Amino acid sequence: MNTPACDRIIIFDTTLRDGEQSPGATLNVEEKLTIAKQLARLGVDVIEAGFPFASPGDFEAVSKIAQQVGTEEGPTICGLARATKQDIESAAKAVSFAAKPRIHTFLATSDIHLEYKLKKTRQDVLQIAPEMVAYAKTFVNDVEFSPEDAGRSDPEFLYQVLERAIAAGATTINIPDTVGYTTPSEFGGLIKGIKENVPNIDQAIISVHGHNDLGLAVANFLEAVKNGARQLECTINGIGERAGNAALEELVMALHVRRQYFNPFFGRPPESEAPLTQIDTRQLYKTSRLVSNLTGMLVQPNKAIVGANAFAHESGIHQDGVLKHKLTYEIMDAQSIGLTDNQIVLGKHSGRNAFRTRLKELGFELADQELNRAFLRFKELADKKKDVSDWDLEAIVNDEAQQVPELFRLEHVQVSSGDHARPTATVTLRTPDGQELTDAAIGTGPVDAIYKAINRVVDIPNQLIEFSVQSVTAGIDAIGEVTIRLQHDDRIFQVTGQIPISSLRRLMLM
Ligand SMILES: [Zn+2]
Repeated sequence: MNTPACDRIIIFDTTLRDGEQSPGATLNVEEKLTIAKQLARLGVDVIEAGFPFASPGDFEAVSKIAQQVGTEEGPTICGLARATKQDIESAAKAVSFAAKPRIHTFLATSDIHLEYKLKKTRQDVLQIAPEMVAYAKTFVNDVEFSPEDAGRSDPEFLYQVLERAIAAGATTINIPDTVGYTTPSEFGGLIKGIKENVPNIDQAIISVHGHNDLGLAVANFLEAVKNGARQLECTINGIGERAGNAALEELVMALHVRRQYFNPFFGRPPESEAPLTQIDTRQLYKTSRLVSNLTGMLVQPNKAIVGANAFAHESGIHQDGVLKHKLTYEIMDAQSIGLTDNQIVLGKHSGRNAFRTRLKELGFELADQELNRAFLRFKELADKKKDVSDWDLEAIVNDEAQQVPELFRLEHVQVSSGDHARPTATVTLRTPDGQELTDAAIGTGPVDAIYKAINRVVDIPNQLIEFSVQSVTAGIDAIGEVTIRLQHDDRIFQVTGQIPISSLRRLMLM
């Protein structure tokens, strides 16, 4: 029998299963594989790769991830299954290619789910749960069982179900706060109760799963950890059903930054330096960007750990403090999550010291007089723009940057698009020697179509990797800052410019 005594946290990533259930976040098989590979580099212990019975696409994704990422040194690959034979068989087949396969089966235990969703009695559950765990056990050794909606289940009944699931072979029992309803002390109390009242609990790892409907998922998990939970089910950027899941990066960094606080709950001396998770925190930022790009679920700028502003200090006093000693206003180092350096955003509150430092980082060393002139121009620009980018700074310092010879001139652009039409663009460019060239292309959207058409004319192989618009000012006649990033060979070219949002809206509506 497995006796999984665990003196660290097991990170169970469900970005590809629960995370993919986010409205609008569908991923194809290749994209899931790309994310799974990055999750392995990040060092997650378990990847819940999907719900194989749900669709052929899910089945294919789970089996491919099992084959390519579920290697001997790689993470455990898990497939989700309801407590039915068909579901379990499908999950077993999909994860069978992994060196370390796991089946995760679930059955609701709250009265409200039993009565309205499953139309089953408590007696039924006491029988089905161990039966299906035992069935899963005929395929794999590593079986996880979740009593769905545990947060709203009668604890006494929950203890009985868990005891039977463990007796039937479950090595992980996962306690989900499916509807994101509990508070930290309630959730901690639930875990404590399970530890104290399930007689064979020492034969299984206690896991937690939770949703962020009240913004409490991470806080609930940390309280669960203090009460004996050792596996955390989480997603990158906290994506997932409704308000999302507990965010992996927040949990990992809380356990990392506040290690001294959490160590005693693991029976370690507070000053122990040994990490509490096996996550390579330097991969966090990269993983966040990848998941955001592939799911199209943007990370809000003020998001903890990975938001664009998480390590940005705009107030002059803060910037000055951070430059003198990082720890004056920072509890963690931006490098620890893989940001190469502290991204100080320069704005109208930025002082001369911050301005000089950023220029230095960009490779510009200015004499005092030059610096004064450049600083005045920077202040002028900062009055008009919210954030002054590195590109702007380069332009300020190096006037030649603004005098790039114009090679092609866009004479004419026409886009058509609609709910049944494929976005099509026609462009006319004037070449440096005065020739007019016209071509057309179909794209995934109006902007993509324009780029494809331009590419056909200029014939310089490049790929549009980002087109984003951020409003600089508020209101109906807002100014938008457009950022376009193109890749050519291995270099990335970035252009930023300002346009009225109203003209962009016209483009979007076409
Ligand atoms: Zn969930």
